[in-house]
Amino acid sequence: MVKKIKKTNKSLKTKIISRMVILLVMLFIIIDTIFALNFRQESINEAKIRSKTIATIVRDSLTSLMVMGVIQNRKIFVRRLKQASEKVDIRNISIIRGNPVDKQFGPGFKSEEPTTADEKYVLATGKKIEKLDETFNSVKYRVIIPYKVTSRGAVDCLMCHKAKSGAVLGAISLTMNLSSVRAMTFRTIAQTSAIFFIFLIILVLLFFRFLSPYISLFQKIEKGLENLKEGEMDGAFIDEEGLPEDEAGKVAKTLQETSRSLKGILSDIDSKVSTLIGYTVIKTDNYLKDTIKIINELVRIYNFKKVIENDRTKKDIIKRVESIIRDYMCFENYAIYEVGDNNKMNLLAVGSKINLGKNDMWCGRSFLEDADICRAKRTGGDVDSLNFTCICPNFKFNVSEENEGEAVNACDEKYNYYCIPIYIGGKVGMILQLIFDNDVADFVHWMIPYIKGYLAEASPVIESRKLMELLKEQSIMDQLTGLYNRRYLDDSSENIVSGIKRRGTNLGILMLDVDHFKEVNDRYGHDNGDVVLRNVAKQIRKSIRISDIAVRFGGEEFLALLIDIKEGEGVAIAEKIRKAIESSPLEIPGGVVLKKTISIGVCEYPTDSDKFWQAVKFSDVALYEAKENGRNKVVRFTKDMWKEEGY
Ligand code: GH3
Ligand code: MG
Ligand code: MG
Repeated sequence: MVKKIKKTNKSLKTKIISRMVILLVMLFIIIDTIFALNFRQESINEAKIRSKTIATIVRDSLTSLMVMGVIQNRKIFVRRLKQASEKVDIRNISIIRGNPVDKQFGPGFKSEEPTTADEKYVLATGKKIEKLDETFNSVKYRVIIPYKVTSRGAVDCLMCHKAKSGAVLGAISLTMNLSSVRAMTFRTIAQTSAIFFIFLIILVLLFFRFLSPYISLFQKIEKGLENLKEGEMDGAFIDEEGLPEDEAGKVAKTLQETSRSLKGILSDIDSKVSTLIGYTVIKTDNYLKDTIKIINELVRIYNFKKVIENDRTKKDIIKRVESIIRDYMCFENYAIYEVGDNNKMNLLAVGSKINLGKNDMWCGRSFLEDADICRAKRTGGDVDSLNFTCICPNFKFNVSEENEGEAVNACDEKYNYYCIPIYIGGKVGMILQLIFDNDVADFVHWMIPYIKGYLAEASPVIESRKLMELLKEQSIMDQLTGLYNRRYLDDSSENIVSGIKRRGTNLGILMLDVDHFKEVNDRYGHDNGDVVLRNVAKQIRKSIRISDIAVRFGGEEFLALLIDIKEGEGVAIAEKIRKAIESSPLEIPGGVVLKKTISIGVCEYPTDSDKFWQAVKFSDVALYEAKENGRNKVVRFTKDMWKEEGY
């Protein structure tokens, strides 16, 4: 990349200078061409004036010779004229005699006869001929000027010549050598070219020297901006040494300050977000990408938090955590445990690609009874099997004396584990266990801070849901007996009844009341009374199915709802309860053995009544009958027991 930038700037430097040189050379050529053309034109004009002057002098001289009567001596004049003109680069000067003169004065000298077609043409037409012979070696200006009869001017030709006005009396022919003028033009061009090129070289060098720092600064700025774009803030800093003190320098310094402040802002964002989410993402040199990464992480965590905050139960939140671990972080082998009541461990969720055996756990069964067997629970810190071989003896795939019975795959190095304690209410409330192969160990360690970020968000919400569940449980449970209370019955009776209706089954309703309970209180005190109540509750629970509902209806009165029984089956179950209580005497302090009995009224819904609360009332009526008939009895409700109207 750096190479590419260098190449681009090198060509830029060459571009600037080459264009400047081309422009200057073009300018020089144009100027020199204009100069050479003007010089040429000027030398031609000069030649014309000179030839005209010579022609005039010759004409006037010949006229003077004629007037003085010495025209026959004109050869001397012509010879002297030739000698003089050769000195000023005028060659082939000759004076030609025209026909009117021959006619009047007879033929002249041989040298005065026209020799060329041009000369004859000029004598015949009276028109001037001028030619410029330009060859590689020389430039010659040839001119033939006619002398025509005129009566105007200083001399009247017609005084001596018998000719018509305008007739051609003769002509003068001469050739001017202009080569020296051209040579001078070339010399001048050569000299100016030499000066120009020396000047050009100096200019290029100066420009090069002047431009170099700017080009290199430009390169640095470009590289800096490139780095800035890539998020490499440090790479955007320009070496301040040698920065020019002008606008370009200011640009570089501004870039410098911008990068510095951007880096500061991004680092600030990073550290604030890290504080917020409790961990930081893996850093690269790219501040922009790092910032985007951490912001994305914040958004993800925020979304996760928002979702779990709207989850109603602890179970739902555990499912979310499980989904993050399994679907987002791609762990196939994992488990989530909960430290339950009496320090017992519960398995909440498990993922495994292998058959884990009967209890479907990655750990030995023993910690289900004692959560402190779990190392992460006991120490409250992370447990990483890569730190020490077989670090937790309770891991199922260890070679360990302690859980030999459990070991199914002796010290299988394929399985590493990492257990993270999750703090709920200041104590280790849950444990997340990750199981992974050796080849992804680095990745797992890299993921741990992220996972902890999610767990940190989840734990307070789990805590609040646990509290809510506890509160709810407490509000519907009877503290003394552990059975449901009246309130639960009020809330749930509708659901229970609609289930029965939907399935078309029967609901057995048993109203139970301890016989002569007051006696226990009076003779042995309330505490022993409570013991009796707890035992009655226990016997009721033991005698009915898990799906049945036992309620403490009031003081020493209980209600058992038998779900989905066959018609008429209620009495048998009531009898079972009665017998269970009768045959479970209680020993209370002081060596006293309490033998208590219970009376039970039985009613069935919808057989006896298709109104739930009425059926409850009927079971109470039957209970009254049982009491009346000697207690320790089960009595099924019959219509005749209901004396009031409105049955
Ligand atoms: P019966 O055979 O007619 O039912 O006689 P009983 O003594 O059981 O009759 P009664 O309904 O008059 O007495 C119930 C007593 O139960 C009254 C009350 O003091 C007592 N009791 C109610 N709730 C509790 C409780 O939570 N604990 C204890 N120890 N006693 C309670
Ligand atoms: Mg009672
Ligand atoms: Mg009673």
